[in-house]
Amino acid sequence: MFDTDVFVLGGGPAGLAAAIAARQRGFHVTLADAGQPPIDKACGEGLMPDSLHAAAQLGIEIPSGVGFPFRGIRFADSTQSVAAAFPLGAGRGIRRTVLHALLVEAAANVGVRMLWGVSVTGIEAHAVRMQRSSMSARWIVGADGGQSLVRRWAGLSEVRHQSRRFGFSSHYLIAPWSDYMEIHWGDGCQFYITPIAPDEICLVLMSRDPRLRIADALPRFPALYDRLQGIRASTPERGAFAGTRRWKRITRGHIALVGDASGTVDAITGEGLCLALQQSIALATALKAGDLSRYEIEHAKLARRPVLMGAFMLTLDRSAWLRRRALGALSTRPELFANLLAAHVGQLNLTQFAATAATLGWEIATA
Ligand SMILES: Cc1cc2nc3c(=O)[nH]c(=O)nc-3n(C[C@H](O)[C@H](O)[C@H](O)COP(=O)(O)OP(=O)(O)OC[C@H]3O[C@@H](n4cnc5c(N)ncnc54)[C@H](O)[C@@H]3O)c2cc1C
Repeated sequence: MFDTDVFVLGGGPAGLAAAIAARQRGFHVTLADAGQPPIDKACGEGLMPDSLHAAAQLGIEIPSGVGFPFRGIRFADSTQSVAAAFPLGAGRGIRRTVLHALLVEAAANVGVRMLWGVSVTGIEAHAVRMQRSSMSARWIVGADGGQSLVRRWAGLSEVRHQSRRFGFSSHYLIAPWSDYMEIHWGDGCQFYITPIAPDEICLVLMSRDPRLRIADALPRFPALYDRLQGIRASTPERGAFAGTRRWKRITRGHIALVGDASGTVDAITGEGLCLALQQSIALATALKAGDLSRYEIEHAKLARRPVLMGAFMLTLDRSAWLRRRALGALSTRPELFANLLAAHVGQLNLTQFAATAATLGWEIATA
């Protein structure tokens, strides 16, 4: 009846993961991307432990020598610092192009048909139009990123919630000075640093100002500025929308969105890739059942935790007063920070999280 069971539009991490998951359920899968692998993009390049767990569920193991492990997260401002390790296993910093190459290899191994350098120009009912050809598909998956055309073509662009932030990333050839992923808080912006190799780090600037660049903001963070002084960026600065965006619906008929096309969480959470992988598994299960409404429900559930943690971090971004008090409270009671981190990677139940939030609120109020 159809040329392919599942057509995945977009071969970034989400598209490749969705293609792998669908292929593992026995579907014939075709994927198209306008770019050529390995595809690069602005990214903090941190895979949290829950991202690694979701990747393993898809059969994607990142070889131990690839990337750089980090054992937890450190928050710092100009005077205070607090760190905690992940409760179960480390995260991994990994250069985006290396991750992409690994995902392409995994997709090839399970038999995904991949069309690179092919732009999709439209969809009509079950037909996918490309520059020189078209294909019919039982299911169409839009994995075409934050500016998704599939979302527009399918009439799924009704916004539920949006918070605009922008991220700029670059790499520096310097040995990581810490085995934590660090978030440095300043007024109106943050830097986060992911160790990605024994001699390289990835630096990301996050702010609400699309014109603010790394070189402008760095002098506001003297400790970081001193470390990076004289070290030239090894890659050009790349920028992207990095805020939160939720859509009212992410499926229509035989069309589903996945990854950034289906919504984003603030990049400072470091959970975008995890969500893309988890959504891909949920989508494949729904495709197998022939019922996309299951995916719609599961997708909303998966977003809850990172959206909540993102909201907490954005509150710290908005209020310097609150941020100072919160960092003060967390550095006096580091076990609370450890609990927040455990919640962040899905290792704390709701009751424990509520107790932690209540204690933190009390500490902030009485500090
Ligand atoms: C500054 C920044 C820092 C981040 N840091 C982290 C982090 O540390 N950890 C983390 O987990 N997440 C992080 N994220 C989020 C993460 O990068 C994204 O969630 C992830 O890239 C989403 O992947 P995707 O496949 O959905 O989209 P994309 O990677 O954007 O892929 C979309 C693909 O679709 C293709 N495409 C689009 N339109 C068409 C078309 N018409 N025809 C053919 N192909 C098309 C594009 O070529 C592209 O390859 C960060 C994001 C930003 C912006």
